Amino acid sequence: MVDPADLHSELGTKIFGRNIVSLDTVGSTNDLAKHLARSNAPPGTLVLARIQRGGKGRLNRTWHSPEGGIYMSLILRPRVPPSIVPGLSLVAGHAVAGTIRDHLNLPALIKWPNDVHIGRNKVSGILCEMGVLNDSQTLFVVLGIGVNGNTDPGDLPEGATSLKAQLGRPVGASTLAARTLERLELFYEQFVQEGLSNLVRDMNRHLLYLNELVILKRAGAPSQENITGTFLGIDLKGRAVIRTKGKLERFLAGDLSLRGC
Ligand code: ADP
Repeated sequence: MVDPADLHSELGTKIFGRNIVSLDTVGSTNDLAKHLARSNAPPGTLVLARIQRGGKGRLNRTWHSPEGGIYMSLILRPRVPPSIVPGLSLVAGHAVAGTIRDHLNLPALIKWPNDVHIGRNKVSGILCEMGVLNDSQTLFVVLGIGVNGNTDPGDLPEGATSLKAQLGRPVGASTLAARTLERLELFYEQFVQEGLSNLVRDMNRHLLYLNELVILKRAGAPSQENITGTFLGIDLKGRAVIRTKGKLERFLAGDLSLRGC
C-alpha cells in the first residue's frame, strides 16, 4: 500500500501527485479519477487505493487488485489531439519499467503497448482513458497504473509476478510510487512538447520481444487475420513495427505474444 503521507513527503514533482485522493477500497481508481476529472479536479491529481474491487484492463478485462499492489490513477489535461493520447500508455510503461530497473535492479521491459514485464511475466499494467470534446479536443486523460509491488503471487493470475516475488523481500511502495511519478512527469513534459521523438529510442532499448517472431492479435478480428512476423520495435507514433514476408507493417493497437506460445 502506498501511504499518501509518505508519498507526499518523498515526492519531488511539480504537479504530479501534489493533490492526492486516497481510499482504502475502491471500484476502480480510473473510474473515480474520471469522475473527478469531469468535476474539474486539477491536473496532477492522483487517486490512490489499497484495494480495487473492479480493477480494469483494456477492453473491459479485469485487473486483479488484491492487497499489496500499487493502484494509482493520474488526472492530466494535455493540450494535444486525442489521436496521440494513446502514446501516453507507452510513456507510463517506460517510466514504470525504468524505475523498476534503476531502483530495484530488476530487468523490467516494456511490453507494447501498455504493460511491463519481468522475464515472461507481467508485473505492471497501464490503462489510459480520456474525455474528449467533439472528437477533436482532449478534455482530460486518466492514466491508471497498477504495479504488483508486495502482492503475494498466489493472489495473482497465471503469467503475473510481483516485485516482492522477484526480489525475495518487500519493496517500499511509497518510495517506488514517488520515483515513478517523478520520472513520468519528466517524460510527460517531453511527450506534450514533441511527442515520442526523444523517448522512442530509449523505449526501443527496453522492449520485450524485440527482434523476436511474434503474433499480433487485433481486437475483434478473427484469428485467421492475426499478423505473424518479426517485431522490429516502436515507431515515432507509438506503433508496433512488424516485418511480415518482406514488408514492414505498423499497428496502433493489438495483443502481442511470442509465436508458438
Ligand atoms: P494485456 O495488455 O496483456 O491485454 P490488459 O492491460 O488488458 O492486458 O490487462 C488485463 C489482463 O492482464 C487480464 O486479462 C489478465 O490476463 C492480466 N492481469 C490481470 N490482473 C493482473 C495483475 N494484477 N498482474 C498481472 N496481470 C494481470
